[in-house]
Amino acid sequence: MVILKTARTIAKMREAGRISSRALREAGKAVEPGVSTLEIDTIVRRYIEKQGAVPSFLGYCDFPASACISVNNVVIHGIPSAKTILRQGDIVSIDIGAEFEGYHGDNAYTFACGDVSDEAKALMRATKESLYEGIKNAVAKNRIGDIGFAVQQYVEARSYSVVRDFVGHGVGAKLHEDPNVPNYGTPGRGVRLLPGMTIAIEPMVTQGTHKVRILDDGWTTVTADGKLAAHYEHTVAVTSDGPIILTLPD
Ligand code: MG
Repeated sequence: MVILKTARTIAKMREAGRISSRALREAGKAVEPGVSTLEIDTIVRRYIEKQGAVPSFLGYCDFPASACISVNNVVIHGIPSAKTILRQGDIVSIDIGAEFEGYHGDNAYTFACGDVSDEAKALMRATKESLYEGIKNAVAKNRIGDIGFAVQQYVEARSYSVVRDFVGHGVGAKLHEDPNVPNYGTPGRGVRLLPGMTIAIEPMVTQGTHKVRILDDGWTTVTADGKLAAHYEHTVAVTSDGPIILTLPD
């Protein structure tokens, strides 16, 4: 069931989104060669808690950390670890949620660790831009398929693939609500978008196959062919005045 939010609720979600976004910015500042993903997770948790908020992911379905940190061929759900030390040239996808006064903000960004290859830069740029193509289509009277189609078309025109096994989602008082928001789709198909819907749009884009597999830890999701992946996400409100990004730092 899709839960429509009032303007007042959306204003609260903007606060949660601001905290999530600033936590992501802090995480990004910490990305450099020699830093472990666990150190970054600690920065994220402390930052969120200092704002009087709660890390949305910590303990969610028993996830053991505050951030998902996914390096290179890891698409999503990388578990922060003292053993995962960032190296020059890595691309580092960080996904963060914060709950504040009962509502969640959810966002992700792929950061470059030092100088990265031109191929990695191109993948990151295309993935980030595809998110904004999706957001442009998060308008009332469109359907979910219009968002997915816009993302998919943008990505595939650049010879990359969109992951099918994981999708974006509604977000609000719960981290994951209806509807699903796939990064692929058919224009005019799927749930109709209405003012008051709040959704996380989150393209997960790969250099090679769209196929992924989950490692034995039950979380870490990697590309099936070992090639790079990137991931960007914003929480967005559908309003009568168009889409509003809720996960902005200011
Ligand atoms: Mg999400």
